[in-house]
Amino acid sequence: MKTGTIISYILAAIAIILSFLFILGSFSPDGSPSWLIVGIIGLLVGFALIYAGVRLAAKAKAEGDTVYNINLDLPGNVQMDTMKCLSCGSPLSPEDIKMVNGAPVVTCPSCGTTYNLTEEPKW
Ligand SMILES: [Zn+2]
Repeated sequence: MKTGTIISYILAAIAIILSFLFILGSFSPDGSPSWLIVGIIGLLVGFALIYAGVRLAAKAKAEGDTVYNINLDLPGNVQMDTMKCLSCGSPLSPEDIKMVNGAPVVTCPSCGTTYNLTEEPKW
């Protein structure tokens, strides 16, 4: 819950409560019929504030999801970018790496060089 969302809900609650009082008052003998219009406008404002609060909450949630996805995807992308053939420098894919006698061996698809992967693979 962001501060903007909470303020929206509080203002909406106040607007709706006051609107009901105005609508009730417009039907009482001491009240004025014009209070009914004030009450209806207040209700509309209240529901608009609730809508704004829901939108703010949804927006905050979407932003949170985006940040989470970026954090998840970034290590994989960085790892793929750094995987390059030691002989010709062409990019390697995980399919080019085979386990031979328990050691990762790279076979470059571009130049055909086969060599042991000195660094431990992350996957
Ligand atoms: Zn190569």
